[in-house]
Amino acid sequence: MKFTELNLSDDILAAVVTAGFTEPSPIQEMTIPLALEGKDVIGQAQTGTGKTAAFGLPTLNKIDTSRNVIQALVIAPTRELAVQSQEELFRFGREKGVKVRSVYGGSSIEKQIKALRSGAHIVVGTPGRLLDLIKRKALKLDHVETLILDEADEMLNMGFLEDIEAIISRVPESRQTLLFSATMPEPIKQIGIKFMKEPEHVKIAAKELTTDLVDQYYVRVKEQDKFDTMTRLMDVDQPELSIVFGRTKRRVDELTRGLKLRGFRAEGIHGDLDQGKRLRVLRDFKNDNLDILVATDVAARGLDISGVTHVYNYDIPQDPESYVHRIGRTGRAGKHGQSITFVSPNEMGYLSIIENLTKKRMKGLKPATAEEAFQAKKKVALKKIERDFADDNIRSNFDKFKGDAVKLAAEFSPEELALYILTLTVQDPATLPDVEIAREKPLPFKPSGNGFGGKGGRGNRGRDNDRRRGSYRGDRNRDDRRDFKRKSNKNRKDFENKDNKRPHRTSSEKKNGFVIRNKGER
Ligand code: ADP
Ligand code: MG
Repeated sequence: MKFTELNLSDDILAAVVTAGFTEPSPIQEMTIPLALEGKDVIGQAQTGTGKTAAFGLPTLNKIDTSRNVIQALVIAPTRELAVQSQEELFRFGREKGVKVRSVYGGSSIEKQIKALRSGAHIVVGTPGRLLDLIKRKALKLDHVETLILDEADEMLNMGFLEDIEAIISRVPESRQTLLFSATMPEPIKQIGIKFMKEPEHVKIAAKELTTDLVDQYYVRVKEQDKFDTMTRLMDVDQPELSIVFGRTKRRVDELTRGLKLRGFRAEGIHGDLDQGKRLRVLRDFKNDNLDILVATDVAARGLDISGVTHVYNYDIPQDPESYVHRIGRTGRAGKHGQSITFVSPNEMGYLSIIENLTKKRMKGLKPATAEEAFQAKKKVALKKIERDFADDNIRSNFDKFKGDAVKLAAEFSPEELALYILTLTVQDPATLPDVEIAREKPLPFKPSGNGFGGKGGRGNRGRDNDRRRGSYRGDRNRDDRRDFKRKSNKNRKDFENKDNKRPHRTSSEKKNGFVIRNKGER
């Protein structure tokens, strides 16, 4: 199909051509005609499939530039997405002379009020700031004919539901309402029912749900033990490049701080960061100056990053499709990746929901002990010492310390000096700085047999348990791993085998601090 078949006006089409778009994407092809007919539309399609133009083009088409009033309102979850949409709308509406303004928090409201006064046909804004402007009577919505909820699932995740409803109630009822989202959790469907008129649903199936190249694991862990569990796993796994997903911006900030405190090269990104900082972090991540990127779902959307080996879901996502988006960050371009999802006991039901969508089971992973983490770190340190001694650049610095070294050598034995070096380089997990991660409410309890696949819930998992128990880690020895890695995996395997010999476990038997599930228990 061609854009010319879509009944868009010439000035809009010209802009589409200038933008270099040749063919409409599936979501555009399906929703643009409906929106042009004036229908309410719910459009669901994966991230990066062109949803902005799907609502943007018909909206721009409808704008009457001879009337200097706000005719369309776009609600977006973050400042960044608001700016992005504003730019895209501006680009397509420029030829026609459509004025598009964006408004968002964390930036001068006076300036935004001034900009609005100077004229706007379309306003794109984040919920909080829109409400502020409405309260100050700086945003007049009585001429709005098109209301758009963009990235609706993210707005839900960010807790904007009430704000959105408050804004919708200020827009004339005679309006057309368009709702776009990558996923369609229940509360979003409810918005469709409550605030839209016989909406047409368009859902573009996600291309590939989960790739076979991603080994998916879950760790059942209490909320308060999550952070230690994650960093121990990282010590053991030594991921080359990983993304840690947190549910909220606060989470991202705290996790980033905690990871840095424990010596990881980590940085976080979320919607509140300014563009410059965000770009810096992404550049560092791509250039190997960072090992761990901590992000919210929104911030990670649309990011094109290759080479990610591990995805850690510090918080299990509420809706299964976000999970698919998250783990899709690894296992790309024919390379293997792995994902590890931390699940608190009462969130276990969400695991089944995810598995019902992906049609794939996550394997249970036993958390690494502090001792295992310590052993793994020691190996890394020994390897590094070996490497450094072979590195002429490092050796060339030795000269500076010649005299001091002779003195030390006279005073201490080689063994004592080596012990000292190791103490400095390897931090014993037992003495790691405590990291407090503020409690987030776990997701509401969801029993696994809740109609999301009936039999597939508890029963299967029970039957599967034996296979599962044997599948902790050892089978993941891969060629591309570094030496110390292989060794640490081997150790782990020994450890596992020993463990697996234990014939039966009682339901919540505790050993060295980890809980092993019994058959059928979730
Ligand atoms: P979504 O909101 O679904 O995540 P976006 O609207 O942000 O996706 O679009 C993703 C990218 O694809 C943008 O850079 C956009 O300009 C581009 N794009 C959108 N539609 C087309 C198209 N028909 N042809 C080529 N590129 C497109
Ligand atoms: Mg979008």
